[in-house]
Amino acid sequence: MSQHILVVGAGVIGAAIAHDLQRRGRRVTLIDRDAPGMGASFGNMASIAVTEFVPVSRPAVLRQIPSWLFNPDGPVAVRPGYLPRLFPWFARFVMAARPARARAIEAAGAALCAPALRDTQALLADLGAADLLNDTGCLALYAGDAEFASDRDHVAALDRFGVDYQPLDRAALTALEPELAPLITRALLFPDNRSLRDPHRYVTALVDRFQALGGTLRRAEVTGVDRSDRVTGLRLSDGETLSGDAVVLCAGAHTARLARDLREPIPLETERGYHTQIMAPGIKLRHALIWPARAFMVTPTAGGIRVGGTVEMAGLDAPPDWNRARLTVRHARAALPGLQVQQTSEWMGHRPALPDTVPILSPSARTRGLFYATGHGHLGVTQAATTARLMGQLIDGATPDLDLRPYRVDRF
Ligand SMILES: Cc1cc2nc3c(=O)[nH]c(=O)nc-3n(C[C@H](O)[C@H](O)[C@H](O)COP(=O)(O)OP(=O)(O)OC[C@H]3O[C@@H](n4cnc5c(N)ncnc54)[C@H](O)[C@@H]3O)c2cc1C
Repeated sequence: MSQHILVVGAGVIGAAIAHDLQRRGRRVTLIDRDAPGMGASFGNMASIAVTEFVPVSRPAVLRQIPSWLFNPDGPVAVRPGYLPRLFPWFARFVMAARPARARAIEAAGAALCAPALRDTQALLADLGAADLLNDTGCLALYAGDAEFASDRDHVAALDRFGVDYQPLDRAALTALEPELAPLITRALLFPDNRSLRDPHRYVTALVDRFQALGGTLRRAEVTGVDRSDRVTGLRLSDGETLSGDAVVLCAGAHTARLARDLREPIPLETERGYHTQIMAPGIKLRHALIWPARAFMVTPTAGGIRVGGTVEMAGLDAPPDWNRARLTVRHARAALPGLQVQQTSEWMGHRPALPDTVPILSPSARTRGLFYATGHGHLGVTQAATTARLMGQLIDGATPDLDLRPYRVDRF
């Protein structure tokens, strides 16, 4: 049994795991170079997106990639200079679309999404933050029958896994969201895709409770993991070492840099995404909206309406391209003509993305006492509570409620 557990990264994943372990009575230190929740977990679209387990790498998406690459307004952008570095990841992404592999990936994603709303509700109730969850679902929007038909593989997957959705015609849609433009003629209501009023507050509520339970929060940059025949601690950038009996790496898109030094390479990329927070939108929205053909979302949050999404492949270090944020605002105005874009702030963040869209929830295959929880891609907020429960069980020496073999670090 581990004595002192060091959790690296106070994003939603690390904070939820540290809290779970502390609640189990373990001695835990949570380390981040920044204030908690300032990475991808700060500015995401806040959706508990239980319907979005279908792998990104699938034939319908692969067919569209060439046209997206030459369209600056497409849902995916690749910086030309980054293409050579992206190639190995992209090759794995394409391989993940093989039918047998795609079905296995879909099942692994669905297994984490099925309990996600229940686990999030239980966790928020435990934190005394149940009010963070909106009580309405999400509407998927379609501009015409052709767009709806092009999303049929997603709907088929929802049917396969018994996920609830309700088709809406224009009249039913208008009754739910009167602000939607007439070009949106069809929609699906996902009643269980609830959203958070403020995803950053989810992280701070976790860290506050973690500390109240006796956990230690430490602000420091981790430069490496010390080990002999097992983990012995962490090296910090100020030269100090922190000793510990177990280490959990949850540094989001930055985890690969730490894993590489441990000779356990993880094919982790950043899928950069953007948001625009509109403080005075001039309209009221009851539901979160997703427009699959344009790959963006609109979420009603505590601080106004948040518009965001899209994917940009340009690595961890390139400066933001704010045109990507403005693109989603243009799309949002097409769906919501009354939207006033005043008093805004823009943000860019790094989704930790694995080529097969399945997160790593795993012990190290090389080093005893080392664990990984990363690669949640578009679903880190959705799967944080479930991830924490499963990782808590794994690290605590209990048998996890779910068979974690599909999430192993050495599957690549
Ligand atoms: C535009 C956008 C929209 C999104 N929308 C949704 C959504 O609606 N629903 C959903 O479920 N998910 C969504 N996501 C995905 C979600 O935000 C991520 O999957 C999730 O936040 C990842 O959490 P994390 O804790 O793994 O990483 P992060 O939140 O990035 O946290 C990693 C932490 O590690 C720290 N760190 C890194 N390296 C070191 C080091 N060497 N030493 C110390 N600390 C270190 C960082 O400072 C950071 O705080 C979205 C993402 C984006 C970008």
